[in-house]
Amino acid sequence: MTDADALRALMEADRWIDRVSAQRDHLPEAEELAALEAELRGEVGAIRDAEGALAPLRAAYDEVATRADRVQQRRRELETALASSTGGARDLSAMHHELESVSAQGDVADEEALGLLETLEEHDAVVKRLRHEIRPKLARREELRGTVEQLRASLDEEVASLRAAREERARAVSDTLLARYQRALTRAGTSGASQIVSGRCDGCRIALAPLDLDRAKGQAEGAFMDCPSCGRILLP
Ligand SMILES: [Zn+2]
Repeated sequence: MTDADALRALMEADRWIDRVSAQRDHLPEAEELAALEAELRGEVGAIRDAEGALAPLRAAYDEVATRADRVQQRRRELETALASSTGGARDLSAMHHELESVSAQGDVADEEALGLLETLEEHDAVVKRLRHEIRPKLARREELRGTVEQLRASLDEEVASLRAAREERARAVSDTLLARYQRALTRAGTSGASQIVSGRCDGCRIALAPLDLDRAKGQAEGAFMDCPSCGRILLP
């Protein structure tokens, strides 16, 4: 195998590893999952807020309902007392007064309780609706998590086996050339070598100057120049 062939095989292995790694890191399912999780964070917050608003409303309703019960109780006591009363006119008149006042208080408390109950039911309905709406999204999240995990595991496996094959190919390259290739790889990323395609380096896609093109074509067997733009070893 010529040096050029060995370098080309290594370059192709590195490019392949780069493609699969990029695929692993940019899964459409992972992007959908990230967007869905951001959406869910907002919706879970809205549910928490709505639930938080319910507690004080419930407390206020309980307080008013207890007050309404107490007033109602007093009203019944007064009505019973008046019905069986044999007391004097002054007592009866006082009881009538209190009954009027208690009835008025009862009406106010009932109305207040009814208003609070309506608000409470509205809020409760909002919480229920939000919880219902979020359910399919939570299910989709679970589904996506599973898919992403599976895809990543299988792509990780693929990258691992590609890396093993790559090491095999690296052993076919001479030490000096391999060191040069590694330096270019570290600097430019993806691969340490590239080819000239239609007058451009296919690593950085920058066109070579006519003089550099001539120089590249004029290289002796086993000699290589670096791409003036990205520094990758230019293969014939
Ligand atoms: Zn280049």
